[in-house]
Amino acid sequence: MTQHYDAAVVGGGVGGLLTAIRLATAGRQVVVLERNTEPGGKLSTRERDGFMFDTGPSLLTLPSLIDDVFHLAGTSLADEVRLQRLDPSFRYFWPDASTVTFRDQPVATAEALDAFSPGSGAEYLAFLAHARQIWQVSERTFFAGDMASPWSLLRRLRSPRDFTKIDALRTLQARGKKMFHDPRLQQWLGRYATYSGSDPSRTPATLACIAAVEADFGSWYVVGGLGALRDAIVRVARSTGVEVRTESEVIAIEATRRHVTGVRLAGESITAPVVVVNADAEHLYQDLLPDAKRLRSVQQTERSTSGVAVLVGVDGRTPHIGHHNVWFSRDYAREFGDMRAGRVPADPTIYGCVSSLTDASQAPAGCENWYLLINTPPDEEVATRDVGPWLLERLAAVGPDLRSRARFAEVIGPRDLAARYRSPGGAIYGTSSNGRSAAFRRPAMRGPRRGLFLVGGATHPGGGLPLVTMSARIVTQLILRSHRQR
Ligand SMILES: Cc1cc2nc3c(=O)[nH]c(=O)nc-3n(C[C@H](O)[C@H](O)[C@H](O)COP(=O)(O)OP(=O)(O)OC[C@H]3O[C@@H](n4cnc5c(N)ncnc54)[C@H](O)[C@@H]3O)c2cc1C
Repeated sequence: MTQHYDAAVVGGGVGGLLTAIRLATAGRQVVVLERNTEPGGKLSTRERDGFMFDTGPSLLTLPSLIDDVFHLAGTSLADEVRLQRLDPSFRYFWPDASTVTFRDQPVATAEALDAFSPGSGAEYLAFLAHARQIWQVSERTFFAGDMASPWSLLRRLRSPRDFTKIDALRTLQARGKKMFHDPRLQQWLGRYATYSGSDPSRTPATLACIAAVEADFGSWYVVGGLGALRDAIVRVARSTGVEVRTESEVIAIEATRRHVTGVRLAGESITAPVVVVNADAEHLYQDLLPDAKRLRSVQQTERSTSGVAVLVGVDGRTPHIGHHNVWFSRDYAREFGDMRAGRVPADPTIYGCVSSLTDASQAPAGCENWYLLINTPPDEEVATRDVGPWLLERLAAVGPDLRSRARFAEVIGPRDLAARYRSPGGAIYGTSSNGRSAAFRRPAMRGPRRGLFLVGGATHPGGGLPLVTMSARIVTQLILRSHRQR
């Protein structure tokens, strides 16, 4: 059986679905082919015994980017989901029992920081002024288009000052030392490297802009869980005529020497002059359209970190916590050193999300849905069998002791992420941002044949919901420019 579309999207992750909506609203017939039983990719959920967990993203930033796509489809994010801007946004805890709560307003956060560490409030406000500049320049340069080569970026810089402003030559860790006298806040800033699965001592200080984005544009929750966002994206895609097919694994991309002609599934072919790959680039060049040179180049880029998540159904209420919590490790350098050596950190920073504090629908009455996450190397062989009890013990040493109240503790490790999303090593964000050239070494959005494009965390500009949403915008521009409708 053969069917024809204007574009076939391989993979129904957020990047693939949003690209499909953009193409459909530009008049194209689009099919999204997802191998799993449900679309959404890493934006996924798990329900157990009345507890709901977001197993991928738990924090939404820059929802306006998704709203832009929904507007093209004649609706809006506010019409499709109930968004809640969190205040406080994050609670941070250190092993010395000190703690600080970040608020939704920078001035309120600065006041909290002054009480936490005198003088740090002014440092924080000065830091935000710096980080806002990075964001403003990055938005109109790095995030404005394709990154086929360093020239693509250089062409978009207005002046050499733009380059200075994005702070790409310094590391995030060095920037932290320059801006904050308190080592705890240096560690806090370093945490933003992990938003792209990277190491603060190796990632460019450009990533400091994420802290400004969170402070200025908010940390958001979607009522009903982030899964409600996935459902809305799928609904909007279907309303624009996109055919979203699940349990539809693409086994090959069909192409002549010059251009793609479609995709092959078991027992079926789809012809299309445009194929957009939302799957990982390693899978593309290894299996779907074998290309030894490109595969080597992809394999030479450093993967982002993976992670081990522990989903815990907890009886009762826990005092002094918030929706988003971070228990920092004693020594960040050692934590990332462990990961470089291929080990699960002995003393990990623990992220804990308890969305039932904001949204009672996420846990049975009187209970809490704890989602714990630690960073690990991107390696499917990382042993996760005993991580559940071990992580609850680690948490008890630095924070709340959930052990006697835990109804269950279910572990999702790198091997699960790799198997579910075909993400090599279980890497969460595609390739890392480690090193000055990382931004230019991501697999290109234009594939080696005419009509072949890449979108999502494995290509420009990287992983995380805001970035894959931008990826969908940029790739659609490339497609529409090179494939005008006859
Ligand atoms: C544990 C975890 C926590 C995270 N936390 C956050 C957070 O708090 N905030 C945030 O913004 N981001 C977070 N992220 C990152 C975010 O989820 C991802 O960057 C984003 O969802 C990736 O989207 P994508 O477009 O790259 O597609 P992916 O989600 O990678 O989806 C790709 C899809 O392609 C499918 N596929 C692969 N091969 C084939 C094939 N041959 N045929 C058909 N289908 C195929 C896969 O099954 C998959 O569904 C987190 C991710 C994880 C895993």
